[in-house]
Amino acid sequence: MKKNISTISIFIIISLMMISCRQTKTSESFTAMNTFMTVSVYSSSAKKSQTACQQIQNRIQELEKILSTTLPESDVYYINHSKILPSPLKPELKELLEYSADMHKKTYGAFNPALYPVIREWGFTTEEYKIPSEQKIQQLLLNTDFSVFYDSEFLPNSKINEGMELDFGAIGKGYAADEAVAILKENGITSALLDFGGNIQTVGKKPDGSLWNVGIRNPWGKSAVCALKVESKAVVTSGGYERFFEDENGNRYIHIFDPKNGHPCDGDLESVTIVCPSGKYADTLSTALFVMGKEAAVEWWKNNPDFDFILITKNHELIYSEGLNKFIEPIYHFVSVETVHR
Ligand code: AMP
Ligand code: MG
Repeated sequence: MKKNISTISIFIIISLMMISCRQTKTSESFTAMNTFMTVSVYSSSAKKSQTACQQIQNRIQELEKILSTTLPESDVYYINHSKILPSPLKPELKELLEYSADMHKKTYGAFNPALYPVIREWGFTTEEYKIPSEQKIQQLLLNTDFSVFYDSEFLPNSKINEGMELDFGAIGKGYAADEAVAILKENGITSALLDFGGNIQTVGKKPDGSLWNVGIRNPWGKSAVCALKVESKAVVTSGGYERFFEDENGNRYIHIFDPKNGHPCDGDLESVTIVCPSGKYADTLSTALFVMGKEAAVEWWKNNPDFDFILITKNHELIYSEGLNKFIEPIYHFVSVETVHR
């Protein structure tokens, strides 16, 4: 009888321990940076999860007030209208300016956060789309040379080119995801999934210890074309299908621009997905490699193989870097599937 009671007590204690360790999911959704964002956090403490979710939401609202091109109180709005760097220059903005100058240089100008006047002329900021005259495009392109910042110290109160306007639309969500991951880590969260308008960021593994399963969107339809297993990685896709307009002949004009000619990209790619730990790096490169096109993108990776990529071409080919070999599963019937080795 005595033995039975102690067995029961041990069983109860173990059960209680298991219940207290069980990771429950807390999910929060909100709209920020013009996108629908969802944060899903797994933790044994619902309170801890809720605190982290709230802190993330607050932080992203803070970032929006720095980076938005349309909020009159934002720092970027101030720069674009006054052509002066604000004083004080917030550390986030300084970091993004320095990072952008570095990535502009490394991507040979494919990533360029100074295309705003060109993008606006095509109507992408207001959705009142139009095809500008070539003369207008060439005139606006004169003010988009981000290389003027290569040796800049980004001092507060310094002047920028009269016609220049900035837009961190190609990097902002990735930067925000990195900030969110830092908040989760500060709160001791080891398992979470963030979806910032299609920019996915995973923290650790799923609560059951298995890898996260992320779907790569079908550019021509609704379902996923690949399933990808990841751990503690950002999975960021840039695709022409995300935002575009068509003329009366069915020509498509997309929201990703070729900084060389000031026109929407019209290359051989349908989408580019970057997989790596940093959301900021993934977001920058998904846009830049899209601009480069298939051949140059693969070449760029061979020279800078510190990330993985998935390219989906307009010819329905799938091309991915060797690091994803064990983790990617094509679902769609691609014309060809190629693994790229270094
Ligand atoms: P993403 O969806 O991350 O590829 O970012 C696309 C957004 O970045 C566009 O909506 C524009 O606001 C901006 N953008 C377009 N083309 C470029 C480019 N070549 N470099 C940097 N930003 C760009
Ligand atoms: Mg991007």
